[in-house]
Amino acid sequence: MKIADIRVRAFWYPSQEKRDSHGHTHFVGEHRATQALVTIVCDDGSEGHCFGPAQSLRPYVIDSFFKPHLLGQDPYHRERLWLTLADMQRVSVGQLTDKALAAVEMALWDWAARKANIPVYKMIGAFRDKVPAYGSTMCGDQISGGLSTPEDYARFAEKLVQRGYKAIKLHTWNPPISWAPDPKMDVKACAAVREAVGPDIALLLDPYSAYSRVEALWLGKEIEKLGFAWYEEPMREASKSSFEWLARNLDIPIVGPETMEGRYQTRAEWIVSGACDITRTGVTDVGGIGPSLKIIHLAESFGMDCEIHREGPGNLALCAVQSNGRWYERGLLHPFIDYDRTPPYLNQHCDQMDAEGFVHLPQIPGLGYDINFDYINAHPVEI
Ligand code: MG
Repeated sequence: MKIADIRVRAFWYPSQEKRDSHGHTHFVGEHRATQALVTIVCDDGSEGHCFGPAQSLRPYVIDSFFKPHLLGQDPYHRERLWLTLADMQRVSVGQLTDKALAAVEMALWDWAARKANIPVYKMIGAFRDKVPAYGSTMCGDQISGGLSTPEDYARFAEKLVQRGYKAIKLHTWNPPISWAPDPKMDVKACAAVREAVGPDIALLLDPYSAYSRVEALWLGKEIEKLGFAWYEEPMREASKSSFEWLARNLDIPIVGPETMEGRYQTRAEWIVSGACDITRTGVTDVGGIGPSLKIIHLAESFGMDCEIHREGPGNLALCAVQSNGRWYERGLLHPFIDYDRTPPYLNQHCDQMDAEGFVHLPQIPGLGYDINFDYINAHPVEI
C-alpha cells in the first residue's frame, strides 16, 4: 500500500463565532467562516480525512512539505512519517505548523481505522466509551446578556448545569477589552458561578495568560477558597521557573503546559521540575494523536493526570484511551450559540452529550467525523 495523493478542499460554512485581534473566539453573529478538509488518497483508492485550518493547509504547505515526504510511502508507517515531518519543523515551523501536521497525521489515523472498519479509539485500545465533559466558556466579552459581567457567567453556568454538565471552565476577560485583564473581576466571576451552581459542580479557571507572579498567586489563592479543581496558564508558559514557584505556593492543581512548544520533551521537563500537578496535551498543540499518546503515557509513568485540550474527534479519542485524565473539553460555549447544532459540513454532531454530561464516542469507522461531502463540494473557496 502506498500514499498516492494528498488533496485539500477548502470550503465555507455559516458560523456565529470569530477570533478577535488577540486571538480569542467570541460570538459575532452569522458570517462566512472557512475550513479545509485534507484527504490522504492511497493507491487502492481508499481515503482518510481530517479537518484543519484552511490557511495552514494552503497549497504551498502541501506541495513543499507533505507531498515530498508522504507520496509513495506506506500509510501504516505513521510514526516514521510523523518523525520525518516533525524534523522538518526545526527550520520551517513558521510554514509547517502543528495544526497542519495534526490534520495530516489524523487523516492517516482516519485512513487506517476506516481500513480496519473500527473507530480510531478502539484501534488504539479503548479505556472507556463515554467521557464526562466540562463546559468550556468563551472568553469574557462586552455583549449585553453575553459574558460581560460576573452575573452573566452565573446565569450561563446555571444553564450549563441544566444541560447536564458536571464541570465548567471559565475563560475570563482578556485584551483587547480596555479594562482587561483584572484579577479582581476574575474572582468576582468565579465567586458568582460557585454561588450559582453550588459545591458539587467542578469548576476550573483559565484566565489571562500573562499575569505577573504576584497577580497569579493572589488569584490562585482566591479560587482555592472557592474550591476550584484546577488553575490553567495564568502566566506565560515560557517561564517554567515561574510555574515551579507558583505550584510550590498553591494547593490548587496547576495544569500545563498547553501552548508552550516542545511537545513531550517540554512536558517531561515540567513534570520532573514540579511546574505542573496535571499535564496537558491536545492534538493541535503537539501535531497529532501519536505525540499526544506519548504525553499521556509519560504522565502516567509519573502517576500524573494528563487533561486534554480542546474539542473535536481527535481529542475525544485521546480521552477515551486514557485512564489518567478526567474530562473532555466541550466548547467553546456562549449564551447566544447553540453548540449542539450540527454544522452543515457534518451529517451528525461529532461530540454528542447526554443529559448526564457524558460525551459518547462515535462508533463509525475512522476518527469520528460523519462528513457531509456534498456540502463541502458545493461550497468551495480558494486558498
Ligand atoms: Mg487553556
